[in-house]
Amino acid sequence: MTAIKSVVADAKRIVIKVGTALLTDNGRGLDEKAIANLAEELSAVQKLGREVVLVSSGSIAEGVRRLGWDRRPTELCHLNEVTPKSMLTAGTPKSLGQMGLAQAYETEFAKRGVKTAQILLTGADLADRTRYLNARSALLTLLSLGVVPVINENDTVVTDEIKVGDNDTLGSVVTNLIEADALVILTDQKGLFTADPRKNPDAVFVDRARAGDPALEKMAGGAASSFSKGGMITKVIAAKRAAQSGASTVIVYGREPRVLQRLAAG
Ligand code: GLU
Repeated sequence: MTAIKSVVADAKRIVIKVGTALLTDNGRGLDEKAIANLAEELSAVQKLGREVVLVSSGSIAEGVRRLGWDRRPTELCHLNEVTPKSMLTAGTPKSLGQMGLAQAYETEFAKRGVKTAQILLTGADLADRTRYLNARSALLTLLSLGVVPVINENDTVVTDEIKVGDNDTLGSVVTNLIEADALVILTDQKGLFTADPRKNPDAVFVDRARAGDPALEKMAGGAASSFSKGGMITKVIAAKRAAQSGASTVIVYGREPRVLQRLAAG
């Protein structure tokens, strides 16, 4: 088999998306070692002269842990008789967990001499021209200052109408926003297969494909766990969106050692 050169090898500006499954201990709060490892990887890639932006989930799972709850709330779940319905959305644990997420990244990047900045976005921010341009200009300024922006959805203020909804999509929207060259989606799966390899032993690894090919959406199938959103389908659709501004997407197993450094090296 001929070796495939990673599209990240030549990418100057890279958006890296990491999901809850890789950042938490099976959904139970943040995994500090995973965060430290990610900070190490991104710092190393930045030191190669690349601009890196991190889109990170994990705040809702961390907030759920901080509150002592056992799962992510939905409008349908009851805490107790007196809890107002407004407390039962993901916005409540999100607001607690985002503190922990920001603190963990800030600490780990600072150990490596890298400054971080937090940006919380909603779909409405990106649908409004002035806010879109402000977000874009803030991000580009941060990158020019050598800061690593850490982005998440502002789940506390969103409603169904204005939310991006999942961070694979948010990663692709940010890729478009700053015209990044590559979107790297780190996942706890071994990449894209022709079918779900957990259910189908005949599934074959897809090493390269054209973003937007409808066949990919058929391969990608269903959703994730009670803590994560997304699944392979949102990743494939994110790749299609990223391609609209000319970016290539890599969907890659996030527990592979030195995965980002190896992608950057080609
Ligand atoms: N914004 C959510 C969080 O921080 C995650 C959304 C997603 O997993 O795609 O937990």
